[in-house]
Amino acid sequence: MTRPSSNQKANHDIFIISLGCPRNLVDTEVLVGTLKRKGFRVFFDSERLRKSKTPGIAIVNTCGFIKDAKEESIGVILELAALKKEGRLGHIIIMGCLSQRYPEGLAKDIREIDAIFGSSTFTRIPEYIEGILKGQKKTLVDEVPGFLYNHKSPRSLLTPSHTAYVKIQEGCMNFCSYCVIPKIRGPFRSRSRESVLKEISSLKARGVKEINLIGQDTTLYGIDKRGKSTLAALLKEASQIMKSRWIRLLYTHPAHYSEDLIKTIAEEPAVCKYLDLPIQHINDRILKSMNRRTAKKDIIALIKNLRKNIPGLAIRTSVIVGFPGEREEDFNELEEFIKNTKFERLGAFTYSPEEGTRAFSMPGHVPEEEKNRRLERIMETQKKISEDYNKLYLKETVKVLIDEKDREGKNRYLGRTAHDAPEVDGTVYVTSKGGLRPGDFVNVKIGDTLEYDLVGSQI
Ligand code: SF4
Repeated sequence: MTRPSSNQKANHDIFIISLGCPRNLVDTEVLVGTLKRKGFRVFFDSERLRKSKTPGIAIVNTCGFIKDAKEESIGVILELAALKKEGRLGHIIIMGCLSQRYPEGLAKDIREIDAIFGSSTFTRIPEYIEGILKGQKKTLVDEVPGFLYNHKSPRSLLTPSHTAYVKIQEGCMNFCSYCVIPKIRGPFRSRSRESVLKEISSLKARGVKEINLIGQDTTLYGIDKRGKSTLAALLKEASQIMKSRWIRLLYTHPAHYSEDLIKTIAEEPAVCKYLDLPIQHINDRILKSMNRRTAKKDIIALIKNLRKNIPGLAIRTSVIVGFPGEREEDFNELEEFIKNTKFERLGAFTYSPEEGTRAFSMPGHVPEEEKNRRLERIMETQKKISEDYNKLYLKETVKVLIDEKDREGKNRYLGRTAHDAPEVDGTVYVTSKGGLRPGDFVNVKIGDTLEYDLVGSQI
């Protein structure tokens, strides 16, 4: 396999399109780091792709989790195929979850695709670019995905430079009956604690103020390391590194909390008093058929324990409506639970039938229209809860991480509290005397509250 010569690398711009979740984004960042280390020029600006004179190479990191995400990925690939047919794009390479799930189908149905890599072979892409430029087709998809980057992997951050995701584990073995992740991301595997801590130290040294710990089920971190690593132990050491900066825990599972973890979240100053805790449902029959490994009484007990032992905690949850067999009374039970529990943050999704999952062939599928009606009702309920919760901030002073300057307002900036994860939660609109930069922590007095956002002035 001959290495592409420097001017071949230089002549072929590589456009990257990254779709899906933060776990996919980290893979894109590792790919970009790998390409740059091998001398390739990489771009993200699709406008430039359309205007480019020399037909370059486009790499799409796809998402294949649920229907909407699949359609979005296929839409992007078809758009690129059209550009290729017009001679404005040279080659199309796809990677990630959609290509891990449907390699043969994609190769057959979209002939313009030159190469297909899975969710764990993408770091090999540079090796094949020479062949692809010569018109070779390539499919490299592991039967069982097993790759997981570490602190030595070249990684080029694509998030704003003051915030970063750190993937501490990949894969999943919970086998929720509606989920294809175990198939497309492979078996559960944790990174070593040393590797995660080394990465956190180097990110801090590069000015990162907020580390978001991610995986498929972060609460099981270390279970495959014969107890050598637990999430609580990792958080303690990471907190020593980050000190007054932020560490945020995402993608936890209600069945896998320990008293030690709860104590650590409460006691470690750097750990945001914020938890991403998808419950998916609350009715015991539905939780059972979802294979969520937890029951209503356990979820209630956990939330009570978390709120009692972690003062000032904000919980983000996500729920699925319209799961096969969900009767009106089961849905009402879920809505009632949400009304009573008052989650500070909530995302809701309609059940997406995914072939290859157990739920796909379950009886009692709910009509789309009815699913959407239930979704609307949950989001209406949550809007009111979020509005009331935000009112608690009025006249309070909160620590805010500045993300960017607000293009709309003079001396106005956009930021987040420790209770706002990037991209999914609320925004704080900060009026300041000026001169703030992304990554600054400022104290803000809240003067107004909206359904999901806050408005205040720097003090
Ligand atoms: S915990 Fe369940 S929903 Fe989450 S990735 Fe694993 S199998 Fe999928």
